[in-house]
Amino acid sequence: MADFSITRLDARQPDFDRQLDAVLAFDPASDADIHEQVAEIIAQVRRDGDAALLEYTRRFDRHDPVSAAALELPQAALEAAWNGLAPAVAAALETAAQRIRAYAEHQKMAPWSYTEADGTRLGQQVTPLDRVGLYVPGGKAAYPSSVLMNAIPAKVAGVPELVMVVPTPGGETNPLVLAAAHIAGVDRVFRVGGAQAVAALAYGTTTLPRVDKIVGPGNIYVATAKKLVFGQVGIDMIAGPSEILVISDGGTDPDWLAMDLFSQAEHDEDAQAILIATDAAYLDAVEASIRGLLPTLERAGVVKTSLSNRGALILVEDLDQAAAVANHIAPEHLELSVADPDALLGKIRNAGAIFMGRHTAEALGDYCAGPNHVLPTSGTARFSSPLGVYDFQKRSSVIFCSPQGSDTLARTASVLARGEGLTAHARSAEYRIVESAS
Ligand code: NAD
Repeated sequence: MADFSITRLDARQPDFDRQLDAVLAFDPASDADIHEQVAEIIAQVRRDGDAALLEYTRRFDRHDPVSAAALELPQAALEAAWNGLAPAVAAALETAAQRIRAYAEHQKMAPWSYTEADGTRLGQQVTPLDRVGLYVPGGKAAYPSSVLMNAIPAKVAGVPELVMVVPTPGGETNPLVLAAAHIAGVDRVFRVGGAQAVAALAYGTTTLPRVDKIVGPGNIYVATAKKLVFGQVGIDMIAGPSEILVISDGGTDPDWLAMDLFSQAEHDEDAQAILIATDAAYLDAVEASIRGLLPTLERAGVVKTSLSNRGALILVEDLDQAAAVANHIAPEHLELSVADPDALLGKIRNAGAIFMGRHTAEALGDYCAGPNHVLPTSGTARFSSPLGVYDFQKRSSVIFCSPQGSDTLARTASVLARGEGLTAHARSAEYRIVESAS
């Protein structure tokens, strides 16, 4: 590991802010060629429907179904995948699903209303989306945990129909993904991926029904397609590379924190893993652990590139300064690896998920703690939140005016409408004024 180096920063130095922003800077691939190619795929799916789906599936996934209907997998195939799992794997999936469901149940938004003295009633109705599309990536690897994390909140919200799409390179389906779809309650599964699957979900084809919202991660073609169909349908978010930020008081075994940093760095070469500590000698100890453990990793090459390019070890004055730096970064995952995480929690304003104390490894949240692993990245935790049941519920305002209430409101509305020059508004309101009451 002689050629390995990781950026060191000192938050007490005057040009720290500039140096930190240089570490955080990330230019997501926004290749104009990809944009153009994806726009063409979407246009062709809108135009040719199922025929385009079949053509792209042959071209990109080397899979040649006999008809568009053959893209759909029957429920029996999902059940068979579930029944075929090794008992330990089935039990782990079931545990994860139960915990994700239990957490999601707490997120459900409820309707509310209140009634004013004159009988006017105001409230908010909450309705699940009618049909949701779930993109499950499958080009290079399979992610059954993502199936659970995206599907279960939708089912808890009460979405009546959940349509999953997953590419099956060479026609191969991953049994774990299908088993996860089975226990998550996915209603229909289509073996189609990439931009063509997103276009089909957004616009519908004869075979694949149009949905109201598309959720789930994917590669650059999928992400670009989601951006382009936004507005026609809702989308969850555009996820950037994974991130972990650890704040340490120097009391956690350095090997543990090195491995926690690796756990996100191994996702991909653009992932970002940063450690903040109050003691320079402790940063040295974690760096020594990184050097010692890196060669033992399966994905050592990816981790090494990620840590060298985008990783950092940051020295701070105290935990208050650590919290300020964390709030500036607004990380996807934040570990508070300190003796009193509750005291620090109150100072954290921007983070997708917060892992409290020395024993709460971020990896537990990736799979089975319960909270969702679909989280805001790239600093977007400043204004957005984890995927949750609320993303599959919509709100409608409900207004009921009693005769007396409409009389009162119409007098105010009439003045405001005439001020705006909107006389039809004003007259519509004025019809509701009860003359005898004035
Ligand atoms: P994918 O399903 O996203 O993409 C496969 C599809 O890409 C193919 O079906 C094909 O249609 C399309 N494609 C491939 N090459 C193409 C080309 N030249 N032109 C047009 N379309 C093309 O699967 P993947 O490629 O394995 O990528 C999965 C991605 O999902 C990774 O980037 C991974 O990091 C990400 N991911 C993120 C999370 C998260 O929670 N953030 C979780 C799991 C996966």
